[in-house]
Amino acid sequence: MQLVTSPSKLQKICLQWRCDGSTVGLVPTMGYFHEGHKNLMRIAREKADKLVVTLFVNPTQFGENEDLSTYPADHEGDAQIARDLGADILFIPDAGSMYAKDHATWVDVPQLAKDLCATSRPTHFRGVSTVVTKLLILTLPEYAVFGEKDWQQLAIIRRLVRDLHLPTNIIGGELIREKDGLAMSSRNAYLTPEERAQAVHINAGIRAGAAVFEQGEHDVEKLKAVIRAHWQRHLPLGKEDYLEFIDPDSLEPVTTITDKARCAVAVYVGKGRLLDNWPFYL
Ligand code: AMP
Repeated sequence: MQLVTSPSKLQKICLQWRCDGSTVGLVPTMGYFHEGHKNLMRIAREKADKLVVTLFVNPTQFGENEDLSTYPADHEGDAQIARDLGADILFIPDAGSMYAKDHATWVDVPQLAKDLCATSRPTHFRGVSTVVTKLLILTLPEYAVFGEKDWQQLAIIRRLVRDLHLPTNIIGGELIREKDGLAMSSRNAYLTPEERAQAVHINAGIRAGAAVFEQGEHDVEKLKAVIRAHWQRHLPLGKEDYLEFIDPDSLEPVTTITDKARCAVAVYVGKGRLLDNWPFYL
């Protein structure tokens, strides 16, 4: 595995691969790898001849009072994992190399980058869309793999790739959970033992709603009430950011589930803001 730190060098290698007829699989990350990241790497490894993993804590997707400076990092451990999973390149860009001082170009998908995470993080998806576009242009992958944990992000990336005619197939990797159901996240490292014990109820609350749904309740307000009641009882350290039922593709809100809806949530627990989502499919 080659460690690459210069965007132009990454581009040169990937262009050469493409000219030679090799396909590239890309897995963009912010590092501090867990099983969720590893699963994406395995999917890309299987699909493409070359696997490129990128590790970049992208400053433009963080708001002013967010955790950019404290985001967990373990570059050595991550490099070992990427190597073990067969990555050909681990790209960790040099500080400042991804954005020129007078950087002025943005990619935005406002129709999908509203509501849900965008309510509390209004500039987040503009940063994500811009950096993902840069990484796709740098590597021109046949496949790029993103996690379903970030459901809104995945929908935005699918849309921007389609709208900009980027030559990449976007693959969604299933949401990987801890044994007790908590969605894996690098930010789980922020949790104290007490917060960690309660955080399991983010998912348990959603599943309490899913159980009522299975019994025939399709009214979203009623399902939300079941989930909130569970959280109030078992997750007193949590503070809801949002709890929404959305169309899985358009992300538009659903009031009665007649076909397919995704329950998407974000909950603040201690220093972490944790995401989860769950299918409510008839
Ligand atoms: P991050 O490093 O958190 O920015 O995530 C990098 C990629 O891993 C994104 O596509 C995420 O959606 C994905 N990811 C993070 N956590 C999980 C998880 N628990 N299950 C599946 N994918 C995940």
